[in-house]
Amino acid sequence: MITHQFGIPVTSTGAILRRERDLGTPLGRETAEVLQSGGLVSDKIIIELIEDWLRLHGSHGFVFDGFPRTLPQAESLMSILARLRSALDLVVWLEVSEQTVVDRIAGRLQCGECGFTTSSSSAQFANRPVCPYCDGHLERRNDDDLGVLQTRLQEFRTKTEPLASYYEKISILHRIDGNRDREAVFSDISRLIEDTQ
Ligand SMILES: [Zn+2]
Repeated sequence: MITHQFGIPVTSTGAILRRERDLGTPLGRETAEVLQSGGLVSDKIIIELIEDWLRLHGSHGFVFDGFPRTLPQAESLMSILARLRSALDLVVWLEVSEQTVVDRIAGRLQCGECGFTTSSSSAQFANRPVCPYCDGHLERRNDDDLGVLQTRLQEFRTKTEPLASYYEKISILHRIDGNRDREAVFSDISRLIEDTQ
């Protein structure tokens, strides 16, 4: 929705890693195993991939979805952006309850090609699980196993939660209630993006 409305490229480390895996690179095979067990890929690898992506796609604005997830990643991102003479305008912190997380993961379909995500209860995709943007196949992701969720939530509390105060200190953090439907959340995010332009 952000790309469509503002023309800003959006990526996530998941999307970058899935492309590596699909291309069958050694890095892609190695990280696929880590992800399947619910762990996080090492900061060093993530940072290299992010820097490569920024050099290729980030010269006219960018959005990272779910990155950085750790303080070392956030510090590395600052260094990369300084080298590229760029900076962060905005950090959007989507606050959701654990119940919302469980409900959404249990009912999520995602395009293996472009990362488009929708609910498996959406009637539009029930009989024909094809991505409306790129014709890719919509599937449940391997890491959508609820058994993996507790590991993820624990990683979030210990490694990601501290990022809120890190970005609060430099006054670019904005908290948004993510328990609402996507239109309401997107409307709040749009207003924030418009204010930076
Ligand atoms: Zn797609």
